[in-house]
Amino acid sequence: MASDTSQTKVLLAEDEESFIDALVIGLTREGFDVTVARDGVEALRLFDLVSPDLILLDLMLPKLSGIDVCRSIRARSSVPIIMVTAKGTEIDTVVGLEVGADDYVAKPYRLRELVARMRAVLRRTPTGDHAPGSDAAHPDSRPILESGGIRIDPDRHQVSVREVDVHLRRKEFELLSLLIENSGRVLTRDVLIDRIWGSDYYGDTKTLDVHIKRLRNHVEVDPSSPILITTIRGVGYRFNASTD
Ligand code: CA
Repeated sequence: MASDTSQTKVLLAEDEESFIDALVIGLTREGFDVTVARDGVEALRLFDLVSPDLILLDLMLPKLSGIDVCRSIRARSSVPIIMVTAKGTEIDTVVGLEVGADDYVAKPYRLRELVARMRAVLRRTPTGDHAPGSDAAHPDSRPILESGGIRIDPDRHQVSVREVDVHLRRKEFELLSLLIENSGRVLTRDVLIDRIWGSDYYGDTKTLDVHIKRLRNHVEVDPSSPILITTIRGVGYRFNASTD
């Protein structure tokens, strides 16, 4: 199988030696084949040279920022990219997702958490499908999502809330899936609109709020004081994984 992690090539774009040392040792032990780029320009050069299966991309890199590297790679490849942010500021991580990163991890992080994220994005990405424009977010078969008492079967298009089946409209379903896939993380309004309605959507931005309101009516115990889908004022929305 091509999904054997001993075959998985990781490009690590990172300029802090302490992180590089720890990651090379840790990821190699996990069976990854690690190549290190110490600045943004080298990251792009090694991307072409190595054709990695996954990129761990530090946001703050010398010469060319992680944002610019991500944008440049995204223009020609859908290779999974995990953005690594310095201080875990929500705005930085959100920018990462807007330029096309698949996920992000904030420093400091545990190696175990990072490897779990890496395996998750690799699972979501069909192997050998790194062509520009291919949609890695929607492989043929998607795993069942479960969080906060909500269970989503993406393939069967079924949703249950606290063990009761609910019927969601298509966009509501996609929105809830996206929020739960990113449990605990803020998704900006732009990212949500972009992913659900497409980047060419120029309709009323109130549409998103209307859909969020409908979702809350379906999933919240008390929709007037939501605890599962919370508003991050001026930024976007977040699904809260553990509310118990
Ligand atoms: Ca850095």
